[in-house]
Amino acid sequence: MRQRRVPDVVVNRLPLYLRVLSEIDVDHAPIISSYELGERTGITPGQIRKDLSMFGVFGKQGVGYDVSILRGELRRILKLNRIVNVGLVGVGNLGQAFLRYGADRQREILSREGLRMRAAFDQDERKIGRRIAVVEVYPVARMPELIKKLDLKIMILTVPAGAAQEILDRCVASGVKAFLNFAPVKLTVPAGVRVHHADFTLQLESLAYYSREWEGNEEQTNIESGTD
Ligand code: ATP
Repeated sequence: MRQRRVPDVVVNRLPLYLRVLSEIDVDHAPIISSYELGERTGITPGQIRKDLSMFGVFGKQGVGYDVSILRGELRRILKLNRIVNVGLVGVGNLGQAFLRYGADRQREILSREGLRMRAAFDQDERKIGRRIAVVEVYPVARMPELIKKLDLKIMILTVPAGAAQEILDRCVASGVKAFLNFAPVKLTVPAGVRVHHADFTLQLESLAYYSREWEGNEEQTNIESGTD
């Protein structure tokens, strides 16, 4: 049977559910209702039930979900039930901060859900061979070989905007299908390859809109009420 394509918004909510479930002490609270899961994620109970039912996961009517089982199901659905090896390209300030952040909290954040930082790559001779937190920095020329050898499934891009597309293309040619891109640039990818953008600049620019009351409030009222 062909699998129905699950909307991205649903997939994006699954880690939220998993995070809440991972924080629960199952000995004390073995069952969770969709209502409680909703309270803790900010998503409506109806939406949660609908999301999970898309994967054939159902709670017990009037009782809720078995926390351990649901956690296992979510890990399986997200393919986090096996180790997912992660690499990083661009060991500048941001790349190094990310590597250190991942290492300091490795037990809690990255490895809790099966993600493992395995290698970093850079073109700068001065950085190659260094060890940053848990990983070694390799030359970009060795990417194809190490992507295969270390079975890197996700690549984090912390290179400058001008280099991101080329690096992504090279990773794709070596079989990588998932990227977290920190470079402030839109990337083109073939079908079947996924990029999540972590663009701080865009985030901050849209946040600026909410940072103080809009100085054109009166104008807006006029436009909306047609009294202009
Ligand atoms: P630094 O001053 O340490 O280079 P930075 O964060 O200011 O830090 P950026 O210019 O943003 O540096 O570059 C980030 C990292 O990406 C650097 O380590 C740089 O060597 C690396 N880099 C740039 N272009 C490429 C490329 N084509 N392939 C691999 N790494 C690259």
